[in-house]
Amino acid sequence: MADRGFLSWPFFEPRHRELADSLQQWCDAMPAESDDLDASCRTLVRELGSAGFLKLCVADGDSRPDVRSLALARQTLAYHGALADFAFAMQGLGSGAISLFGTVEQKLEWLPRVASGEAIAAFAMTEPASGSDAANIATSAMRDGNEWVLVGEKTLISNGGIAHFYVTFARTGEGEGSRGLSAFIVPAELVDVAERIDVISPHPLARLKYDKVRVPTDAIIGEPGEGFRIGMETLNLFRVTVGAAALGLARRALDEALAFAKERRLGSATLADNAVTQAKLADMALANDASALLIYRSAWQQDVGGVDNRRAAAMAKLHATEAGSRVIDAAVQMHGGAGVTRGVKVEELYRDIRALRIYEGASEVQRQIIARDLLKGA
Ligand SMILES: Cc1cc2nc3c(=O)[nH]c(=O)nc-3n(C[C@H](O)[C@H](O)[C@H](O)COP(=O)(O)OP(=O)(O)OC[C@H]3O[C@@H](n4cnc5c(N)ncnc54)[C@H](O)[C@@H]3O)c2cc1C
Repeated sequence: MADRGFLSWPFFEPRHRELADSLQQWCDAMPAESDDLDASCRTLVRELGSAGFLKLCVADGDSRPDVRSLALARQTLAYHGALADFAFAMQGLGSGAISLFGTVEQKLEWLPRVASGEAIAAFAMTEPASGSDAANIATSAMRDGNEWVLVGEKTLISNGGIAHFYVTFARTGEGEGSRGLSAFIVPAELVDVAERIDVISPHPLARLKYDKVRVPTDAIIGEPGEGFRIGMETLNLFRVTVGAAALGLARRALDEALAFAKERRLGSATLADNAVTQAKLADMALANDASALLIYRSAWQQDVGGVDNRRAAAMAKLHATEAGSRVIDAAVQMHGGAGVTRGVKVEELYRDIRALRIYEGASEVQRQIIARDLLKGA
């Protein structure tokens, strides 16, 4: 990554700078992707695990994952390849509820395997009729003796088809809406993969069916009725790291644009000599640094600030994904026809960033979180 100046910001400790260096070295020798998406993903998870990076994604005893490390990892990985970032991020999101709310036994059973890359994790919340409105989940879990029986459908589930377990949110009915949900650890062999879903920036994604899936009572995470809070706190922990991934993609776009502008002839000069191009490059750098400041402020607050940082995390995700999309769009524009040609990096980045404005809380939802927090304090 060309611009590493941000690593001297006061949000970081020496261990973060060491992590950035070792991640950079790993990325320089990153395994090449093949046409087999599932195999590529499995390889990336295994390699990230054996290099020790997936330990960052899970709780260490009672300590929560360090958000600055997660954000640095996602920014660096996304700069080099969206699939590597995806493989890393999902190990965290998929096992996050266990890290934050699991029993000692649940942590011991799953987290070491997630950290080594032996078990692939997934987070199954979205349903065909409930995405942003997670309180509306219809998948049910009914108690039957020493078991819970899950019936329903989930869609757009990342790692669907290759995961070893799905942390699944289902209605157990302790109360209305968000008060009647619980979270369960469901081994993948019990779940039907009804459909694989092909998306703009390919990664393993599926629609799942739970056809009277029976899990033991100790598969529940936390208490019955706590599922919504567990889901939201898990999303809140990782929200800022979505912004960090967007920042990695946008920083790569700026570097691609800088290299292209210096190279590309425009009459007797280069594109980089043109004042309009220079203004565009300045705006791109400004947008990236503003995202970085919001991201690492929020990550620092989560790690050491001891404050409720929901507003800061929502701001970081909102700004980094929206501004990052504009930065990448500008890089595509600067490349002219080459920018929309398959195989050119900025074309790939253009597709890679799009879903980040939708998942783990669409931009409109982030604005709602920010506004509600502002109004509460007004
Ligand atoms: C690539 C990808 C990977 C995903 N991976 C996972 C996963 O691993 N696990 C999982 O559970 N889910 C996953 N999802 C699902 C994702 O979380 C949902 O797509 C997201 O929550 C939005 O839900 P929805 O698609 O049903 O859209 P809807 O909730 O129907 O919203 C549609 C649009 O309406 C607007 N909107 C929504 N709420 C508001 C509001 N309050 N105010 C104003 N406008 C609003 C937004 O523009 C939104 O995009 C993934 C999605 C994608 C695209």
